[in-house]
Amino acid sequence: MTTEPLPSTAAAPDPAGVRPAVRAVPAYPFTPIDVPIKLDQNESPYDFPADLKALAAERMLARPWNRYPDLHADTLKASIAAYEDWDPAAVVVTPGSNVLIKLLTELAGIGQTVLTVSPTFSVYTLEAQLLGATLVQVPLNPDGSLPVAGLQAALRENTPGVLYITEPHAPTGYADTAAAVREVVEAAGDWVVVLDEAYHQYSGTDYRALVREGENRLSLRTFSKAWGLAGLRLGYALASPQLAAHLQKLVPAFNVNTLTQTALEVALEHPDYVRKRAEEVRRERERIFAALQGHPSWQVLPSAANFYLIRTPDAEAAYRHLLEHGIVVRRQDQLPGLAGCLRVAVGTPAENDALLQAAQAFR
Ligand SMILES: *Cc1c(COP(=O)(O)O)cnc(C)c1O
Repeated sequence: MTTEPLPSTAAAPDPAGVRPAVRAVPAYPFTPIDVPIKLDQNESPYDFPADLKALAAERMLARPWNRYPDLHADTLKASIAAYEDWDPAAVVVTPGSNVLIKLLTELAGIGQTVLTVSPTFSVYTLEAQLLGATLVQVPLNPDGSLPVAGLQAALRENTPGVLYITEPHAPTGYADTAAAVREVVEAAGDWVVVLDEAYHQYSGTDYRALVREGENRLSLRTFSKAWGLAGLRLGYALASPQLAAHLQKLVPAFNVNTLTQTALEVALEHPDYVRKRAEEVRRERERIFAALQGHPSWQVLPSAANFYLIRTPDAEAAYRHLLEHGIVVRRQDQLPGLAGCLRVAVGTPAENDALLQAAQAFR
């Protein structure tokens, strides 16, 4: 047997048949970096509590792994519905809310319009581009608040589709007033309105009541952030029964695996840790803000989430400086309006101390 050298993929021609929209989109821009302090993905710095992990593992051992999971994860949906005080028939679950963003873009964006602000969460614009939807973005106000009049005009002037609003906002962490959000949502007429509430536990905001008022509205929520379960992949939509029924048609069968369903049952039986951790994040966020106020060249932007932006005179230099101190954050300086900005997650108190020390050492 002879071993042939593998053909170089760099020299290979681009495969035929790939849609131009897919060709045009760059790969998801994320490079994992192995350093001790990881503040680049807005995760919880704490793992799922060890006793709950053990309970989930025990239940998992008792379940058959050779059988397909619950088709539409109805048991899990019922637990989420009870936790959120929602109609179980109006809950849709997928492996992460990023998948729901893809499905919502399929539901109401393809051949129609995806409307959001700028800068915004990259998945909304990425899916719009991949799926060939018309993408319309309205710049945020200079203070980071929703451009209410601009969005209202865009809602009037474009063919309806799907509107994405993130509260609190990503990647800024800005929380709008409930009145501003309502003004935009109420102008949305026939549009599907998505309120992405991935970080609501940290802001204390809650748009379920506004969502309930219209059958074309939904709230997107996730176990990836405050629940500390990003590795399990589970996101959900709280919608109207009618909207949920259409969205469910787009969900692949058996898309939530038995391990995830089992672990989330356990989490939803013991949700108290989430509130306690969110309180710690809020305290730490305020402590970091206060400590960075006197910084000679870095400016911290107000945030209601578990992350915050630091505006620096040179994002590249600040990023490298933090890496040298064993801290990885996310550069956001390529985004409109965010020149010089780094996005930093709130970590454990010790991690935040390290961040503050490194910040003070920056010259
Ligand atoms: C982190 C995040 C999510 C959650 O994505 P998952 O796929 O559920 O991990 C959703 N929306 C925004 C704006 C986020 O930042």
